[in-house]
Amino acid sequence: MSKKAIGVAIVGFGGMGNQHSEMMTGVPRLKLIGTFDIKEERQVAAKGKGLKAYPSFEAVLADPAIDVVLIATPNDLHKDIAIQAMRAGKNVICEKPVCLNSTELAAILAVADETGKMFQVHQNRRWDEDFLVVKKLFDEKLIGEVFHIETRVQGSRGIPGDWRRLAHQGGGMMLDWGVHLLDRICVMIPGKITQVFCRLNFPTREEVDEGFHVFLTFEHGKTVMVEVGTRNFLSLPLWYVSGTTGTAIIQDWSLSGKIMRLESFDDMDATPIVAGAGLTKTMAPRDDETATEGPLPRVQADVRDFYRNVIDVVEGKAEPIIKNTEVMRVMKLMEACFLSHKTGQVVRFE
Ligand code: NAD
Repeated sequence: MSKKAIGVAIVGFGGMGNQHSEMMTGVPRLKLIGTFDIKEERQVAAKGKGLKAYPSFEAVLADPAIDVVLIATPNDLHKDIAIQAMRAGKNVICEKPVCLNSTELAAILAVADETGKMFQVHQNRRWDEDFLVVKKLFDEKLIGEVFHIETRVQGSRGIPGDWRRLAHQGGGMMLDWGVHLLDRICVMIPGKITQVFCRLNFPTREEVDEGFHVFLTFEHGKTVMVEVGTRNFLSLPLWYVSGTTGTAIIQDWSLSGKIMRLESFDDMDATPIVAGAGLTKTMAPRDDETATEGPLPRVQADVRDFYRNVIDVVEGKAEPIIKNTEVMRVMKLMEACFLSHKTGQVVRFE
């Protein structure tokens, strides 16, 4: 006997709502039934895809065919929509950033506890292959013990759209991209983060951050630099990973990049080179005998595993793949970043 499909409604059918409608296609037993958006043109777009365009959010909640409400509205609306949905007996998938701050998140999680409904955040960039390659290097010590990581995304177009530029709607790049990059660092590197230092930047507007640099120190001494920029007309690599026996670079999302590995531990004294106006042995390049260049490993991943997990969680067969304790930790980490920027100080975190 075939099992019942899990009925889904998307609330907020803009860019990401539409992306979910595409991504869900082909996930067996997850059935996107309809959407609700306050914009008429988005309701028309939903109908054009053969979806039911609900006349109101209340109509979504009243439909017994809907098991899961997927929230893809601007960030300031996530909390109230999530709480109403869970109180109406629906499970919830929520877009990132989960909401605006840890107080809001605590209120959401209290209702998830009270109702017993699933509340899971779509941290989809845990399935990005560039991240999974770095995680593999890290976990399997393919360049020795990783001691420092730089992870960044850079664009040149400023902050897109309208609500992303507004503080009260949860705009700014820390909440938009920072949440992804910090989340991935937190799931990859075990241990406490002891120190947080952050500088937000505001090159063309003042209301919300257009980018930032964050410096993290872990209890075991590993360090991470996280950067987001929206005024970068030339881009640095997505990842620069330093291990005790190698270095890895990932340039871009096509995964161009390489690993340089130490072949010989013989600490041969280098011949000094002339460098600029001086002389150096320390910075003299290696030859092919002591270090070799190789390709990055590849990792297969399918972000649809997120939706498959949702089905299992709703049916009581699995724990959520994205844990709310992890989501809360990252929210508090972003708050520590804002505090560090405001005070100009290193913030002691955990
Ligand atoms: P968007 O502006 O393209 O779409 C938001 C939609 O919500 C709009 O169509 C708007 O009309 C609708 N909306 C506004 N208020 C509403 C309400 N009260 N009820 C119903 N609909 C309402 O924005 P977007 O880029 O799609 O972002 C939406 C969410 O998705 C944000 O939280 C964003 O951070 C997240 N997002 C996640 C990813 C990812 O990779 N996980 C990527 C992009 C956006």
